[in-house]
Amino acid sequence: MKASQFFISTLKEAPADAEIVSHKLMMRAGMIKRLGAGLYNYMPMGLRVIRKVEHIIRSEMDRAGAVELLMPVVQPAELWQETGRFEKMGPELLRVKDRHGRDFIIQPTSEEVVTDIARQELRSYKQLPKNFYHIQTKFRDERRPRFGVMRGREFTMKDAYSFDRDVASAGRSYENMYGAYCKIFDRLGLQYRAVAADTGAIGGDRSHEFQVIADTGEDAIIYCPTSDYAANIELAEALALLPSRGAATQPLTKTPTPGKSTCADVAELLKLDLTQTVKSLVLATDELNEQGEVVKSQVWLLLVRGDHDLNEVKAGKLDGLKGGFRFATVGEIEAHFGCKPGYLGPIGLKAPLKIVADRTVANMADFVCGANEPDFHFTGVNWGRDLPEPDLVADIRNVVAGDPSPDGKGVLAIQRGIEVGHVFYLGTKYSAAMNATYLDETGKPQLMEMGCYGIGVTRILGAAIEQNHDERGIIWPDSIAPFTVVVCPIGMDRSEAVKDAATQLHQDLQALGIDVLLDDRGERPGAMFADWELVGVPHRVVISDRGLKEGQVEYQGRRDTEATKLALADVVAHLK
Ligand code: ATP
Ligand code: MG
Ligand code: MG
Ligand code: MG
Repeated sequence: MKASQFFISTLKEAPADAEIVSHKLMMRAGMIKRLGAGLYNYMPMGLRVIRKVEHIIRSEMDRAGAVELLMPVVQPAELWQETGRFEKMGPELLRVKDRHGRDFIIQPTSEEVVTDIARQELRSYKQLPKNFYHIQTKFRDERRPRFGVMRGREFTMKDAYSFDRDVASAGRSYENMYGAYCKIFDRLGLQYRAVAADTGAIGGDRSHEFQVIADTGEDAIIYCPTSDYAANIELAEALALLPSRGAATQPLTKTPTPGKSTCADVAELLKLDLTQTVKSLVLATDELNEQGEVVKSQVWLLLVRGDHDLNEVKAGKLDGLKGGFRFATVGEIEAHFGCKPGYLGPIGLKAPLKIVADRTVANMADFVCGANEPDFHFTGVNWGRDLPEPDLVADIRNVVAGDPSPDGKGVLAIQRGIEVGHVFYLGTKYSAAMNATYLDETGKPQLMEMGCYGIGVTRILGAAIEQNHDERGIIWPDSIAPFTVVVCPIGMDRSEAVKDAATQLHQDLQALGIDVLLDDRGERPGAMFADWELVGVPHRVVISDRGLKEGQVEYQGRRDTEATKLALADVVAHLK
């Protein structure tokens, strides 16, 4: 490729809205161009990186036995209504109507569509296991799109979905994907950690996030330097505080009287055993106006770690609890549980629960609190004033560095990370909702066991730069650099010798399949070098008359502090 034919557009300054280094450098290097909030044009230089990332992912997915297909970006709402996600998902799900007024969604993920394919196509146990994947555009109407491609609204994801006949086989599919992810992130040249992650409503212990280590990461991960323990801090807290997460919630059977009901009524409705110990409780409240419209939504998360009586907590006996209860905001709950406030129910009803009855105060009366399904709200619930004030939100983290590791093999350290991949065992959540069955050996229909596996293709660019840059610009790992080598001739327009040597080297490297760019733009050396250091090309060869007189060129690796002289004849072998 010649620079004069390609499209290169670098900037001296990053735009003001770019907060972190990867966003700044991607903008300055002309990799992306902003179109709107969370919407970016992938410019030619950036697209080359995306394609390389996709290539690595594709080759490892294929090697692991997954099968590529492509599902539409625009998906009929009907499928999403079957699983209930059309109603349940919050505003992150972009809903649109066609000219006939029919509902559609722009896919944030594809469980529904792939399960629809599976229930039609995978009929016999003989066709299982099967793993379908695609690399496709996603849309999530993120509350706070930021950091460029790191948290876009439109972005590219590789998502894969496995279908198995039973739990054991699903476990093998999960392990298989876990292994493939390790190979992918190794090949991408990233420093990462696979950490145990929250399984939310699904439960179980099969969920891992692949976190690229970076101080600017939005996630916090805890790990034990002297053992294998590593987890997303969210999970660690959820496990410690919510031992019964994943248990089913129950719909309401009756509605309490507005203004009259107390916590005891709620407990009765929920069939909670008031004589036992609180493990965890999440309640959402909608404050209504006279017209019955929601004027304010709030989610109250009350968590009690261990076998503590709520009375003890109230009495301030928090020893060993480390702030064993806390309140969270709507946003935190949405982010954490992935469901819409107002439809949150108590979590973990299978665990023993205790609610202290009759803490009714007038100023917090007449709330409607959410259930786990639409139209199953409690109304008229009153809340005790003696609950902690919401400013405890600030103190949301209970785990700190130096805490003992849960495996007892050392103490915990904390790092920040960027979630670039996620593997997740789904069980029969979607197959049950959509009746995706296969026939077993005896001809009996059985629900398929599923797993889902995502990689944030475009987010990887940002994550790679967060890890690999210096004051001059990006330092791409070879495997995903837009160009691996740049040939910089000095005075090409004046010197036939330089022109010939550069053209020849360009051809020779190309013939070897090396991604090489010849900078024939005629820029001054300083400007030329600055561009390629900014863009992050890992290898640079400078050809000048002076060097050629001694049969030499200058080679500089992007991380090298100075150039080294190389015989022109040796360059190809050096770069091979
Ligand atoms: P996050 O916690 O960052 O919001 P997520 O857990 O919602 O991510 P998943 O549903 O697990 O994301 O999707 C799989 C992968 O897609 C993530 O691991 C991440 O790499 C990527 N991804 C998710 N949201 C975005 C986004 N808004 N922009 C870019 N990549 C994203
Ligand atoms: Mg998200
Ligand atoms: Mg996440
Ligand atoms: Mg995730």
